[in-house]
Amino acid sequence: MIKIINNRDAYICALCNRKYNSKSTLLRHQRYECGAEKQYQCSQCQRGFYHKHQLKDHILRRHLPDIHLPSIK
Ligand SMILES: [Zn+2]
Ligand SMILES: [Zn+2]
Repeated sequence: MIKIINNRDAYICALCNRKYNSKSTLLRHQRYECGAEKQYQCSQCQRGFYHKHQLKDHILRRHLPDIHLPSIK
């Protein structure tokens, strides 16, 4: 999952939107920093996420206002 913008060689991590100027750096980031495993799981639909804010975002978009106050730990 790599997004590439045309002007200047910018590689963006599709998971966390960090920018890198080389593909290898981005790949290393995704492998070691961005989390090889999805650490956060939605308690409503069991979807997994790499970052906590992604889970929060998902719950807000997907499940609210259907449900009330999911507790995110
Ligand atoms: Zn990332
Ligand atoms: Zn969900």
